[in-house]
Amino acid sequence: MKAVVIKKTGSFEVLEYTNTTKPKVVTGQVLVKNVFAGLNYIDTYHRSGLYPKVLPFILGVEGSGTIEEIGENTETDLQIGDRVAYFYGGSYAEYTAVPVAKIVKLPNSISFIQGAASMIQGMTAFYLTNEIYKLQEGDWCLIHAGAGGVGSLAIQMAKHLGATVVTTVSTEEKAKLVKKLGADHVIMYKDVNFAEALLELRPQGCELVLDGVGQATFQNSIKCTKTRGYLASFGNASGPVKPIPLLQLARSIKVTRPSLFHYVQTKEEFTNKANKVFELFEKNIITLKESEPRNLSDVKQVHIDLESRKTTGKIVMRID
Ligand code: NDP
Repeated sequence: MKAVVIKKTGSFEVLEYTNTTKPKVVTGQVLVKNVFAGLNYIDTYHRSGLYPKVLPFILGVEGSGTIEEIGENTETDLQIGDRVAYFYGGSYAEYTAVPVAKIVKLPNSISFIQGAASMIQGMTAFYLTNEIYKLQEGDWCLIHAGAGGVGSLAIQMAKHLGATVVTTVSTEEKAKLVKKLGADHVIMYKDVNFAEALLELRPQGCELVLDGVGQATFQNSIKCTKTRGYLASFGNASGPVKPIPLLQLARSIKVTRPSLFHYVQTKEEFTNKANKVFELFEKNIITLKESEPRNLSDVKQVHIDLESRKTTGKIVMRID
């Protein structure tokens, strides 16, 4: 089968779209014929080695498609031909063997693209706005990189919960997009000091600050967090966060460095959360800023675009 295999870590140049062996399913797994591999920033960390993995491996942690085979003696309600989405390694490929605890059946109303988007970016936006701290009417929430995959869904979820949303973006085009998604205030963080701009809007800071940008923003994100507020540092798009003196948090700020893995530990938790995101799509509470699907064979250019901040919303790659 065709797949993107990482044999050594590095820049986009290590991405190899190549022939490799089709996976064999074992008990407890199903074989998915992928329609789309979802693109996520974490793919760049696996590719570069920031998050180490045993080499060689097939890149990608989320996909959607149909069930082609079910491992012998596997206990599951899933059937051959079912439309599914999953959160599991090896999705940049024609086929992926997935444990049944990491896969969910798609309701008829949910498209393959929505299914893939729900897995990482959707469930992440959900746990950030509902479980790290449940936003409520009257709260303010700062969301960095609001035009991105997680950001664009988090804006809509935070608005739905009644929060006032401030978001940062790097371009005018992205500013227009986040306004359409419902953001109340947009800060162009390449042009102005975002902490000063935010504190001018709300001097006491925000109940919840969502920072997936990392190194470039973390220090100022602390300033934007209200006394006794929550700061989730959940990513490293600009590089990993540098150590800080603990005293900088001595306004009783609760800092967390969460990972989706820990918010979908059991099959039940995974399925419940995925279904909550599907429901938000079905009720039109969230919508996707979908771009035309890219081709998996074009993976190098797709990673270049993601890392040079050219993408917005959800990007999926068609298996071609
Ligand atoms: P995005 O689509 O949001 O892409 C990243 C965005 O980050 C860019 O579009 C850009 O937006 C912004 N950015 C700021 N500085 C830089 C920089 N130096 N280089 C590149 N981009 C930069 O990606 P995802 O939605 O896939 O992920 C967003 C973040 O969330 C990532 O850090 C990711 O690792 C993290 N994440 C964490 C999870 C968890 O559970 N911990 C789960 C899922 C994602 P702009 O141009 O507007 O600045």
